[in-house]
Amino acid sequence: MTGRFAPSPTGILHLGNLRTALASWLSARAVGGRWIIRMEDVDGPRCRRDIGEAQLRDLARLGLESDEPVIWQSDRSEAYREALARLHRADRLYPCVCTRKDLQTLAAAPHAEDGLRPYPGRCRDRGWEGFEAALRFRLPKGTVSWEDRVLGPQAEDPAGLTGDPLLFRRDGCFAYHLAVVVDDGAQGVTEIVRGADLRSVTATQIRLQEALGLPRPVYAHLGMVISPDGNRLGKRAGALGLEALTGRGLPMEVLVGWLGWSLGCLDEPRACGVIDLIGSFDWSRVPKGDVRVPEDWS
Ligand code: GLU
Repeated sequence: MTGRFAPSPTGILHLGNLRTALASWLSARAVGGRWIIRMEDVDGPRCRRDIGEAQLRDLARLGLESDEPVIWQSDRSEAYREALARLHRADRLYPCVCTRKDLQTLAAAPHAEDGLRPYPGRCRDRGWEGFEAALRFRLPKGTVSWEDRVLGPQAEDPAGLTGDPLLFRRDGCFAYHLAVVVDDGAQGVTEIVRGADLRSVTATQIRLQEALGLPRPVYAHLGMVISPDGNRLGKRAGALGLEALTGRGLPMEVLVGWLGWSLGCLDEPRACGVIDLIGSFDWSRVPKGDVRVPEDWS
């Protein structure tokens, strides 16, 4: 069994990210599995090496360290290029020249759940010659079903939800979908634990695994962490990272205890270390919904 935590180095890790990291670590350790950290810095300008290194330090302060050297996606272009070549040979890619403006006028109505507009497939039959273009993945029609460790049975039609996703952008960046699927496959990841905000990308990623002949991991999408003022914590909001909390006098053991409690390992938050939580981690006790940060932590 191999679990992983794969943050994007675009901001500090907040309590929601740390809770996700802890859940994936506990799930792996509870069965004697391997756990790795991967830095998802494909989205060039928004990602910073120093932020990634600060994230690794914060994880280490909690006791969460990768069993293998940390991979940075910005070093993995060769692997992504090879995967694109494979998809091209299988006729699963096509060049897309639609601009953002085209997409706004062409696209169908936003999807009710998250405001996404499915790509209408305008470039699907375009030939390959003579222009610089982005690359899209040809999604087959039909529903993808999977059993989520937290949310239970899930079913989604990615072609209807988002339409064919971009795998390579015109500015030369590889897209998140491609990088995440190629790396999880290359690193032998068998369990993906992440926030419920990424549930909607899962069906597309399963389609991509199928097209690349990669095994399907097990998924667990955790609820969000809500700040005392009722908002979801977000990296860029600068909300509630280790630095801020310890600066306000919260010792690390109290933080770990709260994270463990919010995952159902403890009946109430108490001072402890991550090791103390392994024996009582059980996916069936993990809350399905969002959890709230205590009032006096903000
Ligand atoms: N890098 C993504 C993020 O930080 C997570 C990707 C994943 O876990 O699949 O939001």
